[in-house]
Amino acid sequence: MRELAHAFLERRGVDNPRLEADLLVSHALGCDRLHLMMRLESPVLADEVDRARDLLVRRGRREPLAYITGTQEFYSRPFLVGPGCLIPRPESELLVDLAKDESKLRDLGRVCDLGTGSGVLAVTLALEEIGKSVIGVDVDGAALDHAKRNAQALGAPVELVHQDGLAFLAGTEPFDLIVSNPPYVDPKVAGELEPEVREYEPAGALFAPEGDPDHWVRELCKWSGANALAPGGLLLVELGFDQGPRALALAEEAGFEARICPDLAGLDRVLWARRKG
Ligand code: GLN
Repeated sequence: MRELAHAFLERRGVDNPRLEADLLVSHALGCDRLHLMMRLESPVLADEVDRARDLLVRRGRREPLAYITGTQEFYSRPFLVGPGCLIPRPESELLVDLAKDESKLRDLGRVCDLGTGSGVLAVTLALEEIGKSVIGVDVDGAALDHAKRNAQALGAPVELVHQDGLAFLAGTEPFDLIVSNPPYVDPKVAGELEPEVREYEPAGALFAPEGDPDHWVRELCKWSGANALAPGGLLLVELGFDQGPRALALAEEAGFEARICPDLAGLDRVLWARRKG
């Protein structure tokens, strides 16, 4: 079964077909990958074969692995994910690392994750004890339902608010730290995305407004520079690979002390911007 599953996913153009075939067959059999080999020496039941086949067919249609298994790891914790929320990416862990660095420099009171989606950043910041209170905001109710499930499952003390992000920032008390992984993919390149992303993940979490890929960076700088961020507070925004120079210019124009932080692949990934205090 492993070999057939592997060959099937390979024909469908799935990256890492051997690993993913093992993960899906293990999921169908209710065991982990390490036990799969041992488990396959005993007879496999017909309904287990059916279950595995269903999962493989879904993956063969390029549905993301995380939606099929229902979980994705982030910062070494399992997050519940499914249609309606963006799947957490490992590069977003850099936002948590930078927030942690900041919390070692000074005590953080109010912390906000704008566009929290599945809640990964808000929940992780709360569990890493970054800040005294953490609020996650999202305009998308379906995504926020995932965030609520994750906060509950992982026992994270976060407040989750269903509201348009900019309306929220316009009416809030100042935060010491604002983090955001906003939609930054330029809709012009939608055709170049993998089918897993383009056809399954929520467009509202991926795509910047047509013709304005820097919309969220500009707005976050504007409201953070107004009063959403306390003087001396820090804004951390995830960026697309080609956004760095423009994001830096926008933050500096808005009066921030700013730099761009690269991810492990060496790509510009996060805008680090301190409001002058
Ligand atoms: N990093 C995601 C991707 O490349 C995009 C996430 C986002 O727009 N914030 O698909």
